[in-house]
Amino acid sequence: MTTRPPREMLEIRRELMAFADIGIYRYTMDGTVLHMDRTTLRILELDDRFADPAQVVGKNIADLFEYELPPGALRKQVQETEEVRSYEYSFRTLDGTSKCCLHDSRMVHDHESNQDTIQVITRDITALKHVQDQLTETNQDLAQANAELQSLDELKNNLLANVSHELRSPLVSVRGYADLIMSGLSGPVNVEQKRQLQIIVTNVGRLTAIVDELLDAAQLDRSGSVLQASPCDINGLVEAALLTVTPKSSQRSIELEPDLTGDLPRILADPRLLSQVLVNLLTNAIKFSEPGGHVIASTSVTPDGGVCIAVADNGIGIPAKDLERIFDRFYQVDSSSTRHYTGLGLGLTLSRDIVHRHGGTLTVESTVSESTTFRVVLPPAPSKALEPE
Ligand code: ADP
Repeated sequence: MTTRPPREMLEIRRELMAFADIGIYRYTMDGTVLHMDRTTLRILELDDRFADPAQVVGKNIADLFEYELPPGALRKQVQETEEVRSYEYSFRTLDGTSKCCLHDSRMVHDHESNQDTIQVITRDITALKHVQDQLTETNQDLAQANAELQSLDELKNNLLANVSHELRSPLVSVRGYADLIMSGLSGPVNVEQKRQLQIIVTNVGRLTAIVDELLDAAQLDRSGSVLQASPCDINGLVEAALLTVTPKSSQRSIELEPDLTGDLPRILADPRLLSQVLVNLLTNAIKFSEPGGHVIASTSVTPDGGVCIAVADNGIGIPAKDLERIFDRFYQVDSSSTRHYTGLGLGLTLSRDIVHRHGGTLTVESTVSESTTFRVVLPPAPSKALEPE
């Protein structure tokens, strides 16, 4: 036999439950109320009809509400499993108010009347439900706004890709004819005309580079995360990238220095895309350095067996406040109309995107007027990927 808790304990328990706004009531298997506390009376909005909970005792719960409480299904479930927790129940009080309660119900044998009864602990969650409904609605609105943004983004990418593509062909044609005239094959060209043609060719080259960058951005956005990855010799890719930017560095009297670690592990990468990253980092290092500057491209093995490629320069540097933002689309530290650095502000966005697609990271460290170092860290290739087929 269970011993009853002392009277003051019961009192404390009652006070605590009222404080926590938790009601308790008990009824027989046929629905006759055996006990109901004041909190339940209030939660179920019965307090304007019954001043005292004792007045409810003996009534059938089916007569107290528009719907039976808790419903027959729950009663059956409690009978079968002896205990049902967190049962959410919406009902309407007799004055038509919609309410939602959370019940924890369990079978309790009443020794006095020698019958099974159901004891219910109930909490009013109407306000909570309301907030939840509002949140669900807001979530749905957000999901819809997100879908609209995504389709707008797609539209923008398609536009970008199509416009860039359409611009490319006439540019190739202008360049071809300018070269032809300059070569003198279509007739004699004097020195001044040659100088002017050279200006056309240089600017067509610039325009082509911009269009190519836009095309690359649109293509990467479209192609999702599809990589043409194969085991790569990273030092070879760095050397090739250094060779590509050598004319630019010579033009600006900037010294390029490789510092490559021998015996690098082969890394699973898309060589075309990774080269694009390296050329972009090196081009920036040259572009943002003063003549006489020094650019070092180094490689090393990371502690987990991956590879780190660092491109360091002793150029103008990047202010701390801009360090993360430079990876944002179209962000440039100097975006004024008077800036003397060319570019679109897309290269680092693309580079970080490409490196992330390889499962790697692209980070930067910089001190203004001193130095900037970009680091590409690529994870080790799974050993299976390096096995010969
Ligand atoms: P872009 O070079 O076309 O402007 P990027 O996305 O490659 O675009 O670079 C964004 C910006 O980050 C640059 O405009 C420049 O302000 C800054 N930046 C990038 N690399 C360097 C660097 N090595 N030194 C100083 N600033 C740099």
